[in-house]
Amino acid sequence: MPELPEVEHAARCLRTWLEGRVVLKAEAADTRIFRGADRRAFARRLAGRRLERIDRRGKNLLLSFEGGVGVWSHLGMTGKWVRRAPVATGAARERAPSHSRARLRLDDASVLHYCDPRLFGRIAVHEGTPLAELPEIRALGPDPLLDGIDAGALHDKLSRSARPIKVALLDQAVLAGIGNIHATEALFRAGIDPRRPGNRLDRALVEQLALAIRASLDHAFVINGPGEIAYLSEGGHVQNDFLIYDHAGEPCPRCGRTLAKMTQAGRTIAWCQRYQT
Ligand SMILES: [Zn+2]
Repeated sequence: MPELPEVEHAARCLRTWLEGRVVLKAEAADTRIFRGADRRAFARRLAGRRLERIDRRGKNLLLSFEGGVGVWSHLGMTGKWVRRAPVATGAARERAPSHSRARLRLDDASVLHYCDPRLFGRIAVHEGTPLAELPEIRALGPDPLLDGIDAGALHDKLSRSARPIKVALLDQAVLAGIGNIHATEALFRAGIDPRRPGNRLDRALVEQLALAIRASLDHAFVINGPGEIAYLSEGGHVQNDFLIYDHAGEPCPRCGRTLAKMTQAGRTIAWCQRYQT
């Protein structure tokens, strides 16, 4: 599932592919990733427009085109943008990637496909209002990569609710971009029991947690490397380099005890009952 590092990776790829390019044609092949009038707007409003900038806030990709047209892309659980390079004259046409749901045909003859096997992703089109000013984007908490993590501010936010810390970390208004993987990893790195109420973490522990979140994200940047995003769920051929995520039943990397499994708010995670207190 894409979290901050994967979406940042997607933003960097899209910048390379789209910088200075003009969309010749936009095709909305599958209705299920669009809502309301977005499918028609995608197909009609993008043709002839040059990209101005690409931003990322948390797990949201914000593509701004000239003329005040913006495309908001959320990758959901399995979404990714894939580029197909221009085909040399006479060469065989490269096959479209599987699960291609929407396409941008660019003026360098390349095609960007939005692929999404499980269809939890969304594409929305906005005109007039800059994407960064949409209420849903403004409601996001600080982005650890763009804004850093202010331990004092995080402590304040967490102190307002007795929600388990793991659940609080998934709230995008607390920190934007953290999901199940990095909440699990960061709580392990900081030695915190995922069930502990958020308002019971003292300032020193929140500082430790802030460092752990940053370390977990940095680790993901290293293991992602260049190229297309690959998700752990893709048939098991993607190596799981996380410390404990999806490693329940295996020995804890810190103490050797078998990692336990627990379900919280519908999400299953691994944790160490000895080390995380
Ligand atoms: Zn352990």
